[in-house]
Amino acid sequence: MGSVELRGVTTRYGKTVALSELELDIADGEFFVLLGPSGAGKTTTLKSVAGLVDSVAGEVRIAGRSMAGVEPYQRNVAMAFESYALYPQQTVEQNLASPLRSGRTGRYTAAQQTERIRAVTETLGISHLLGRFPRELSNGQRQRTALGRVLVRPAEAYLLDEPLSHLDAKLRASMRAELKQLGEMARTTTLYVTHDYQEALALGDRVGVLRDGRLVQVGTPSQVWDEPADTFVARMFGQPEMNLLPAHLIQCVQHGDSVTSAHARSAGGGVTVGVPDGCPESVRLGIRPRDLLVVSGPPPTDRLTLRGKVTLAERLGRSVELSVAVGGDTLIAMTSDQRVGEGDEVTLAVEWSRVHLFGGPNGDAPRLGAAVAAGGAR
Ligand code: ADP
Repeated sequence: MGSVELRGVTTRYGKTVALSELELDIADGEFFVLLGPSGAGKTTTLKSVAGLVDSVAGEVRIAGRSMAGVEPYQRNVAMAFESYALYPQQTVEQNLASPLRSGRTGRYTAAQQTERIRAVTETLGISHLLGRFPRELSNGQRQRTALGRVLVRPAEAYLLDEPLSHLDAKLRASMRAELKQLGEMARTTTLYVTHDYQEALALGDRVGVLRDGRLVQVGTPSQVWDEPADTFVARMFGQPEMNLLPAHLIQCVQHGDSVTSAHARSAGGGVTVGVPDGCPESVRLGIRPRDLLVVSGPPPTDRLTLRGKVTLAERLGRSVELSVAVGGDTLIAMTSDQRVGEGDEVTLAVEWSRVHLFGGPNGDAPRLGAAVAAGGAR
């Protein structure tokens, strides 16, 4: 087991810069998830650690050792690709046993091999398939076997590239929970790639959000969820996506040298935010659909309230997804109240602490902080 460090790693494919100056410290034993849209550089990060790409500037260190000039097979990392690498002529059991027989992973007695294979196949739910050949497996079973081939052998670090992508939703959810439990993995440094934000939040000790080859934010699941660095990260986590409501800046007050409070007015009323330096020209209020509650009766005074008209009500089992026209904007809200329908006038309320403020009128903008009630400005 060992830490994985990337120091100013820039990786190119010809003229394409896939990773740009990546700085990352993954602690020994940590489960680190890299999240990002397709083409963000997730696979390239794994390949750069494994030594599978040529043009890597900067430094990769594994267990404190520089990997400069170290061949992939000498790195003692185990990588699972999205496309399964199984020997077609071997059974599942033989496929799992072969990494344990190779000289570089150390020699295991037959009993030790059997025990490791048993532990991994039980976790992956494939113990009943040991005698089958890859062609006799479903896509999901093949993917689990390929993952088993990686997890069965001890390594400094596991590098896992979308290992659950071929599983159906139910199996994905149960595998997610089991992966977290898998004793060996829980203690082995793991760099796990996904484009699924739920997987990232469920599995990661920490999550790194990649965009265009750059790390936008690294944090614990609650940090990236509660304090997204910018609107890109905010929209990456959550389905439906976070609402972004433009607000007009009406006043900006300087307190001492650095802290500024900005009063803004949106369709719903006034908000105040502390901003670290300077006054933003405009802001947007970020509100997650599940934080927007439909309230009946008089609007609560201790929250930001918004009046609007339901333009679409989509029933999704027990909850209803509402599109609500507020001023010139449309907000998405979730409610469990099945009576709310299209054409209804509704009041939406959100706690101040759940209103994020982002700078800039459009495009991706940094988070300035959480809103507080604007007092006199309301
Ligand atoms: P992700 O895993 O996040 O989908 P990748 O790491 O596969 O992203 O790709 C990052 C960038 O590098 C993309 O722009 C992609 O088109 C490019 N890229 C990946 N592999 C190659 C390759 N073998 N040759 C040229 N460009 C590549």
